[in-house]
Amino acid sequence: MHIASAASRLTLSQLAPGVLQSEIRAMSVECDRIGGINLAQGICDTPVPAPVLEAAVQAIHDGYNIYTRLDGIARLRNAIAAKQKKDYALDYDPESEILVSSGATGGLHAAAMALLNPGDEVILFEPFYGYHAATLQSLRVKTVLTPLAEPDWTLDTDALRAAITPKTRAILLNTPANPSGKVFTLAELQVIAELAIEHDLFVLCDEIYEYFVYDGARHISPATLPGMRERTIVFSGFSKTFSITGWRLGYVTGDARWLGAMAYFHDLTYVCAPSAFQHAAAAGLEQLPPSFYMQLAADHQSKRQRILSALRDAGFEPGVPAGAYYVLAGANHLPGKTSAEKARHLLTKTGVASVAGSAFFRKGRGENLLRFCFAKRDQELDEACARLRKL
Ligand code: PMP
Repeated sequence: MHIASAASRLTLSQLAPGVLQSEIRAMSVECDRIGGINLAQGICDTPVPAPVLEAAVQAIHDGYNIYTRLDGIARLRNAIAAKQKKDYALDYDPESEILVSSGATGGLHAAAMALLNPGDEVILFEPFYGYHAATLQSLRVKTVLTPLAEPDWTLDTDALRAAITPKTRAILLNTPANPSGKVFTLAELQVIAELAIEHDLFVLCDEIYEYFVYDGARHISPATLPGMRERTIVFSGFSKTFSITGWRLGYVTGDARWLGAMAYFHDLTYVCAPSAFQHAAAAGLEQLPPSFYMQLAADHQSKRQRILSALRDAGFEPGVPAGAYYVLAGANHLPGKTSAEKARHLLTKTGVASVAGSAFFRKGRGENLLRFCFAKRDQELDEACARLRKL
């Protein structure tokens, strides 16, 4: 007999009510509904480099359709090790210090599972990338937001120092950063490194936009600073560099002491990263010349200029990103009390989807900002710019 009870056990978890559809995805859905141009999601629909695309098809034909070793195929781990050595003079053992992951996203999740306990505090810089905060919170890790100083989002050393408590276990960093386009300077990274060493903290660094740097800016990995290799976990991937966001392929590098546990947790969720695509990414790393990466930056610098100019013409006050492929723009002139209202207004008026700035800040901040992604094919970007100018 069913006994009615006030306290049903058919409930969502304590965490679940906080996990709402992200505003970014909500804008994409609305944009699709009205047939607009989506500058909201960082989906980067520029073409996949030919060697990568062809190697993926070939790998499927060649039968690479089964599970791989839990930390990825040797060929790709070797290629990632060679890349880190060439780009940053960092030495990682492909046997024990590289995890091929299901995107940088899967990499962060595995890293957090392996290193952090519920109740631990992790410092994030604000504006932050929503997945970083939500991933940690979903593991019951407390995120502590440290604002970067406007207008250029420079590091506020005092704010960072003040955010560190006895419960702090890690600083999570994204350079070049989404959504601000900030590229942390050597001096800033030295401050972060100094505090991390002084307080014995991990530094988790999302370097997915490493090749998207403009005006001569240089990406520096905190792992390269003295005393930092053992405590820095880099997570990155191929989504952006090879325009393969849907393939779900990334990697984590770090000291062998930590990597085994990360691979264990990654295995529990994903078993392995997509097999055929691992071969494709390896082919890309092996075959694409340095000019590919330079062209990638040059192409996006030109896209950045086009969107900046259109945004200014349309009355926005855009920040100039030094890296990544987003512009955060002030939208004082748009009606609406919140940035979500402003984004909806812009979508209705122009058919251009952006993301409400509030998605990247604590409650009450970012309400005047909209984020625009400019990693779009030129034709689509130009159409979006033309529509913005008609505002
Ligand atoms: N990190 C940052 C900062 C991003 O902006 C994104 C894409 N929006 C990701 C990670 C996602 O990377 P991946 O596709 O490798 O999971």
